[in-house]
Amino acid sequence: MPAPLRIPAHPASEGLAFGPPVRPGGVDVPDDLTTDVSFADAAAATAARLLGLADAARGDGRTEEADVLEAYGLIAEDPALAKDVDARTAAGTPLVRAVRDAIAAMSATFAAMDDAYFAQRAEDVRGVGRELLTTLAGAAPDALPLPDGAIIVADDLTPADTVRMDLTRVGAFATERGGPTSHTAIVARAAGIPAVVGATGLLAAVDGSTLLMVDGHDGVVVVDPDGDVVADAELRMGAHKEREVARRRYRGRAVTFDGQRVLVAANVGSVEEVADAVEAGSDGVGLFRSEFLFLGRDEAPSTAEQSAAYRTAVEAFEDPTIVRTLDIGGDKEVPYLQLPSEQNPFLGVRGLRLCLQRPELFDAQLDALLTVDAPDRLRVMFPMVATPAEFAAGRERLLARARALGVAAPPVGVMVETTSAALLAPHLAEQAAFFSIGTNDLTQYVTSADRTHGDLGALQDPANPAVLELIRRTVTAGGAAGIPTGVCGEAAGDPAMVALLVGLGVEELSVAPVRTDLVRWLVDQLDPARVRDVATRAVGLPDAEAVRELVAPLLP
Ligand code: PEP
Ligand code: MG
Repeated sequence: MPAPLRIPAHPASEGLAFGPPVRPGGVDVPDDLTTDVSFADAAAATAARLLGLADAARGDGRTEEADVLEAYGLIAEDPALAKDVDARTAAGTPLVRAVRDAIAAMSATFAAMDDAYFAQRAEDVRGVGRELLTTLAGAAPDALPLPDGAIIVADDLTPADTVRMDLTRVGAFATERGGPTSHTAIVARAAGIPAVVGATGLLAAVDGSTLLMVDGHDGVVVVDPDGDVVADAELRMGAHKEREVARRRYRGRAVTFDGQRVLVAANVGSVEEVADAVEAGSDGVGLFRSEFLFLGRDEAPSTAEQSAAYRTAVEAFEDPTIVRTLDIGGDKEVPYLQLPSEQNPFLGVRGLRLCLQRPELFDAQLDALLTVDAPDRLRVMFPMVATPAEFAAGRERLLARARALGVAAPPVGVMVETTSAALLAPHLAEQAAFFSIGTNDLTQYVTSADRTHGDLGALQDPANPAVLELIRRTVTAGGAAGIPTGVCGEAAGDPAMVALLVGLGVEELSVAPVRTDLVRWLVDQLDPARVRDVATRAVGLPDAEAVRELVAPLLP
């Protein structure tokens, strides 16, 4: 018997699953379909349906999907799209064909922008196109019936697809397209469902198969696995489950490394995610991405609205909440702020730079933070700091607003994510109350590799010794000044990096709430003497690969 077919893919969400393949079918809509429905009516009906799905998703706590579906609703009713469709039908093209062509043109415009953010918008436009065609065909899709443990196979999945699925019945996701930040990957990780993406040739290979195995750790799909594969996988699933149980025992438990408490805090971007952090037993909020409060809407949130969101986090935990002031610019766009377009947004007016140039925006946020009026439970952090002078200007502004409002200012820290900030850490430490290292940006700036560029993924590894050296310097400078250093980039939830970070003296790890138990369990298993030795040696190695090889034997 031939060996079962193994299709390599990108791992997108941890775990292993077996199950029957299910392919969510699209509705087949012929180009020359005749319909009495006008495009305007179809667009309005589609937008209403998508917004209804968004509401339902939000009600179920599926905020990621809700946010994207709301954006879909806006695209469906985009006047430019309607204008293009009308022009095509006026020229004699049948309506369905005209919609297909207008969608293709709109998504091609985004795709041509050669930027990961716009590549995602191009995907969104295609997703909306499918919804519009479904409406024209008079077939509003309902919830997709799923057998238990269904392995969802698809070219790619949009939030409009996943929101129609009962995720408790999904065993795993496997898609032909998409990368680690694609919608499928995000939904899978949030729900703790194994997933792989970028499985080229998947759809043709699974045609007619009855059982699939998806390995979200190694990144592989096995089609019709034989007894050996099943037995081996079951062993690994057993070990995985045992670890899950062991990790769950760490819920809410304090952990130490070499006698020093390591806080395991949460990265959040909304009030809903604060609730996730509470449920995960996080020690506090290590990074509140405040700019998320500004995204996906038509105007900035008021000072009162912002303040209420920050207060929710502050009141949820005994340990302090770190709110990062607006980090707009780079890949985060806010249309209503009418920021000029830039040649290199990641090197442009981003984060604290923007706040210092837009005092009205900055002051409204500082006032919101100050009116939380909990200086002992709140910390403020400035992103994209490059020089001590910038940090001083931001801090001075906060102190001035505190004086004006007659309240005490909370401690202010630096988000260390530029090379300059890391190298100037001894100077920044003279003014800062704490450091929190943003390894996502720090890695991109150290390697000069755009973090959203799919082809440069190998350069985004924070285990790069050049990045480790900057982390080491930051921690040392913080220690000398008596201020703590945390890490809030993705590295804080990556097992090998967790060992290196605590080995280098990092005192707080701020991670996605779902990773809390894993990180605590890991910290508790590490042997401090060996980890410190390895972390020191890692800094002297030539590349991330050598570093990961050196650390691997220390991991449980
Ligand atoms: C970082 O840069 O590491 C970080 C945590 O911030 P963001 O990913 O929001 O830029
Ligand atoms: Mg950052």
